[in-house]
Amino acid sequence: MKIHEYQAKGILKKYGVAVPRGEMATTREEAERTAGNLFSAGASGVVVKAQIHAGGRGKGGGVKIAKSVEEAVELAGKMLGMRLVTHQTGPEGRIVQRLLIEETLPIEKELYIGILVDREEGKPVFMASAAGGMEIEQVAAQNPQAILKEYIDPGMGLEPFQARKLAFQLGLKPQQVNQAVQFMTGLYKAFEDTDASLLEINPFITTTDGRLFALDAKINFDDNALFRHPDIRELRDVDEEDPLEVEASKYNLNYIKLDGNVGCMVNGAGLAMATMDIVKYAGGMPANFLDVGGGANAEQVTHAFEILLSDKSVKAVLINIFGGILRVDTLATGVVEAARKTNIQLPIVLRLEGTNVEEGREILKQSGLNFIVAETMKDAAEQVVAAANAA
Ligand code: GDP
Ligand code: MN
Repeated sequence: MKIHEYQAKGILKKYGVAVPRGEMATTREEAERTAGNLFSAGASGVVVKAQIHAGGRGKGGGVKIAKSVEEAVELAGKMLGMRLVTHQTGPEGRIVQRLLIEETLPIEKELYIGILVDREEGKPVFMASAAGGMEIEQVAAQNPQAILKEYIDPGMGLEPFQARKLAFQLGLKPQQVNQAVQFMTGLYKAFEDTDASLLEINPFITTTDGRLFALDAKINFDDNALFRHPDIRELRDVDEEDPLEVEASKYNLNYIKLDGNVGCMVNGAGLAMATMDIVKYAGGMPANFLDVGGGANAEQVTHAFEILLSDKSVKAVLINIFGGILRVDTLATGVVEAARKTNIQLPIVLRLEGTNVEEGREILKQSGLNFIVAETMKDAAEQVVAAANAA
């Protein structure tokens, strides 16, 4: 799960990580109030930042500096409701519905610091670079030695000597090292406590008067651990998520949208993966990953089908089911119901095996609808790819 920058900063603040003063705003009036408070408290400027679940906002026009309350209100008015396009949003962009209004700080240097799980090492790793502010992926590709790494023993956590080492390697001044240790310790504690999968501060800044701040903040959480963090689950903003994925999660369907045109409905994650592989092997591209689960009922199958079909890029559908707990006749009933309800015009290829397969095939045949029943997975993949490409 992803959250907004202002929410991530709220979490970091609790762990003693320095963040600029500021508040979230959803209207011009709220922006005006916060900007007014910040100027009264001595800010020399405020920054108006679009809150979307994507980076690259600076370059896309989603981060603007104002020197007065009036200017901040004007910028807020322009930014709210704007379609912000960045290299991470795709060409359709995102509508800005929330802003962060924050004090500006006198930036001396922009650095990068992040924590993620290194799967090969089986450990969290701190990544840091003196080349912050810009896209860190670019730095990693062009100048990999500019990225510092410090692996963390999960049993020990970040040790002060490791934080000191990173601080010196980043070129921080000796008098900033204790601040840096506190900063990094807070980051690590936040990462660990919240079961985060990624925590990124880009830029992590030094100010001309020697202080350290998280100027931007991104935290992604491990969805499988969210059950023990009800407070974090509250931070979810479904407006930022793919509407079909949100719909699927309501019915406990495991759906992930992809770029291709072959809609796939499968039971079991392993079979779903194998199905995507074989579709690709047959020269096609899956439009989604969809696992209806082992114990799906006819209603869930109907919903799954509706979700698949509301994706306009789907040109043909492959249903690949191994009937175990989910019996093939139950699935067939769901498919026929959904096909009638949605008045489907697309070719549907089915490959069915397992419990009650004969009854299932009979239901499909009796429906009078035009289903293509394939014999093997390979045959099914080839037929569905041919159908999608012909559309
Ligand atoms: P991103 O582009 O989505 O990663 O958004 P960031 O929050 O990282 O902001 C992008 C850039 O805007 C930063 O690298 C800074 O250069 C600039 N910026 C953000 N906040 C401030 C601020 O308070 N003062 C100044 N001067 N620049 C800022
Ligand atoms: Mn950033």
